[in-house]
Amino acid sequence: MITHIEHIGIAVKSLEEAIPYYEKVLGLKCYNIEEVADQKVRTAFFQIGGTKIELLESTSPEGTIATFIEKRGEGIHHLAFASDNIEADLAHAKAEGVRLIDQEPRAGAEGLSIAFLHPKSTMGVLTEICQDKNK
Ligand code: ZN
Repeated sequence: MITHIEHIGIAVKSLEEAIPYYEKVLGLKCYNIEEVADQKVRTAFFQIGGTKIELLESTSPEGTIATFIEKRGEGIHHLAFASDNIEADLAHAKAEGVRLIDQEPRAGAEGLSIAFLHPKSTMGVLTEICQDKNK
C-alpha cells in the first residue's frame, strides 16, 4: 500500500549551487549528501515535515540526470511514494497495465528499496515507489 509522499526529486546542475537556496532562502537543513554510483548521481536530502526534498546532481555527462537537464532543464524530476510493500505495489501497477522501468526493486539512496514507473504510463510524472526495509 502507498502510505505517503516519501520525497520529491529535483534535478540540479550543481549541489553546491542548489543547497544554499534551500538552506538560506527556505531555511531547510541539508542532513545528508550521498553518491549512488550505479545511478551516476550525487544526492542531497532535506527533511520537511513527513517528506523530503532530494536534489540530484549527475556525476557523469551520460547519466540520466545529465540527459534530463540537457532536454528539459533543471527542475522537478520525479515523485516518490512510500510503500509498505514495494513488491506488491509494483505487481499491482504492472497488473494495471503500467509500464515498469524496474521490474524488481533495487537499492537507492538512504538504504531504500526503490523502483520506477515509466512516465509514459503515469501522465508524464516519473514515479518512484520506495520502501524502507529497515523499519
Ligand atoms: Zn528519488
